[in-house]
Amino acid sequence: MNLNTIAQVKRPKSFDEIEWRDGHAFLAGGTWLFSEPQVTTDTLVDLEQFGWPALTVTPAGLEIAATAKIVELHDFKGPADWKAVPLFDKCVDAFLMSFKIWNAATVGGNICMSLPAGAMISLTAALEGVCTLWPREGKPREVSVVDFVTANHQNVLRKGELLRSIRLPAAALTKRFAMRQTSLTHLGRSAALIIATVKDDGSDFLLTITAATPRPVQLRFDRVPASEALRRAIDERLPPDGYFDDVHGSAAYKRHITHYLADQIRAELA
Ligand SMILES: Cc1cc2nc3c(=O)[nH]c(=O)nc-3n(C[C@H](O)[C@H](O)[C@H](O)COP(=O)(O)OP(=O)(O)OC[C@H]3O[C@@H](n4cnc5c(N)ncnc54)[C@H](O)[C@@H]3O)c2cc1C
Repeated sequence: MNLNTIAQVKRPKSFDEIEWRDGHAFLAGGTWLFSEPQVTTDTLVDLEQFGWPALTVTPAGLEIAATAKIVELHDFKGPADWKAVPLFDKCVDAFLMSFKIWNAATVGGNICMSLPAGAMISLTAALEGVCTLWPREGKPREVSVVDFVTANHQNVLRKGELLRSIRLPAAALTKRFAMRQTSLTHLGRSAALIIATVKDDGSDFLLTITAATPRPVQLRFDRVPASEALRRAIDERLPPDGYFDDVHGSAAYKRHITHYLADQIRAELA
């Protein structure tokens, strides 16, 4: 849609060029920004000219630029021992997808939207991602993806702060994984997207619950837990009203489905 409040689009080549003030908004893929009126925004700051490389493999893991497109993540082929890379595709498929989202939406834009059904949040949280944030003043800071999202459509970004990149550690990328996702309607928005990872020797089982909850919830176990222990741990962490109640599923439904899918994942990785 046309945004009739926008008076200017800035295309800076570096972060230092930006003189931030109220009314500015970062423009990434624009798939959300252009999907509804932005009445408090008069200037878009386009991130495209920064020219950051989308995906960089290093011995420490994978660095994903915030501006990396969903399609670039889909096309990524990692080193042979990164067994978790097929999870990228599975999470991309979990999107309520259109041509526009596939080709224009960015990984950073999805994380900054901080919606419960943000599939890039599910992916990067499950793979123990760490966000690098560039504040307006001072040094860059790092926040895990799990802690980045604080509630539905809320996160730790301060005014004018930019999400620069997300780093996935090699240790997480080499783990085995299992994932389950469900929606109330065919191709609908996720009601639950649950992922677990585990090391080859059965240690370090990490369960990440997303979409069913307003923000990602993570539970770590030394080894793959027994069914009852997993159920108990989820209930201890998530009270019945800790689930996200919306048109894509009631809290009670999401609680039920979380237990059901988490136990399937547990059995698959055991
Ligand atoms: C048909 C359709 C289906 C959708 N389905 C889903 C879905 O299933 N799940 C879901 O989560 N969302 C969905 N969305 C919402 C949205 O389009 C996506 O979340 C998308 O990934 C946003 O990415 P973008 O690059 O287009 O962000 P933009 O629209 O450009 O930006 C989104 C927000 O993030 C801010 N932002 C972007 N990048 C940065 C950055 N690097 N640092 C700081 N702030 C930044 C922007 O200022 C803006 O507030 C859907 C939208 C449409 C139109």
